[in-house]
Amino acid sequence: MSAQRFYAGCSMLFLIGLVLFLGTVPGTQAAAEKLRTENIIYVMMDGVRVQEMFGGADEELLPKEGGAAELVRMRYWRETPEARRETLMPFIWKVMAKEGQILGDESKNAGVMVTNGLNFSYPGYSETLCGVADPRVDSNKKIPNPNVNVLEWINSQKKYRGKVAAFGAWDLFPFILNRDRSGLLVNAGYEPFTQGKITPAMAVLNRCKENTIRYWGGEPFDVFTYETAYEYFKTAKPRVLFVSLGEQDEWAHGNRYDLYLQSIQLADKCIRELWETAQSMRQYRGRTTLIISTDHGRGLGPAWTGHGKDHPNSAKIWMGFMGPDTPALGVRENTGTIKEAQMAATVAAFLGLDYRQGVPNAEPPVPGVIGSAR
Ligand SMILES: [Zn+2]
Repeated sequence: MSAQRFYAGCSMLFLIGLVLFLGTVPGTQAAAEKLRTENIIYVMMDGVRVQEMFGGADEELLPKEGGAAELVRMRYWRETPEARRETLMPFIWKVMAKEGQILGDESKNAGVMVTNGLNFSYPGYSETLCGVADPRVDSNKKIPNPNVNVLEWINSQKKYRGKVAAFGAWDLFPFILNRDRSGLLVNAGYEPFTQGKITPAMAVLNRCKENTIRYWGGEPFDVFTYETAYEYFKTAKPRVLFVSLGEQDEWAHGNRYDLYLQSIQLADKCIRELWETAQSMRQYRGRTTLIISTDHGRGLGPAWTGHGKDHPNSAKIWMGFMGPDTPALGVRENTGTIKEAQMAATVAAFLGLDYRQGVPNAEPPVPGVIGSAR
């Protein structure tokens, strides 16, 4: 072989290698840059409307009479939508929206939509986490999800095996994430945490879950789910932590707007604590992306308590991103309509992984959330 042919052969091999390498990361823009995200913290709040996300407390729904009315108004009512949302979700609006991105503001041509047509929980979580709106997923029954989800897919990659954990308030999560098939660490509902080291705090949390009043059959108060996830986060240090809170939807169905607001405010506090704790830990500091979203919206006016295919407003949702790879664009404008199903591939893309190599019919990542950042 002549030296010329030898070198030509080497460059061809290099090119093939480069193409294979680029194939593992989504899009040329992301491929051209080195992503800094090594960990993901992803928190969902169940059934929180775009009305509260972008406008804070809705005056029409605030309690009008009774002893609590004045207190609720004092806590959540402010003159402008910006002040109201900052009061309700101070971390999301004073930190995430400044250092990261919030999507879902229709008035800025940046709506995010549920596309499964059903606008309730199991189909919503499935669409978000699996990346497809599958018409077979059409109930909230305890049926194992036939679809692969992005947490399971990331956990199947050698680098992340055993380093992905999901904590859900709702006891449907072992089915949504198909725990039996996926082998994913999933802790949900009132079940004790048993899949890892039981620290003294975890043992107390397990006892509390067992012994608390079961106000709702399918899920405990968020504090139990959150504290279990938080304890696991600090001690096991997963690469991907998924936490789904449920009180927002429960209080809404119960027509308790005051407690719906309070549970959103508490969720914001949990998200802040996770983020600030992450920044104090070497594994996470500067290498972690925070993601937030919801599974569906809710109805308007007096129909705010419900959601579903008869409530078009409940198809409107939102998403938020912040981390070392997300440009600080604040409230996104002119994205066109983003689909709920785009979340799955977006989560993987932050880790430089192309989810659609595993699930070819998944929707593509949300454009513009990964790019040249700080
Ligand atoms: Zn829901």
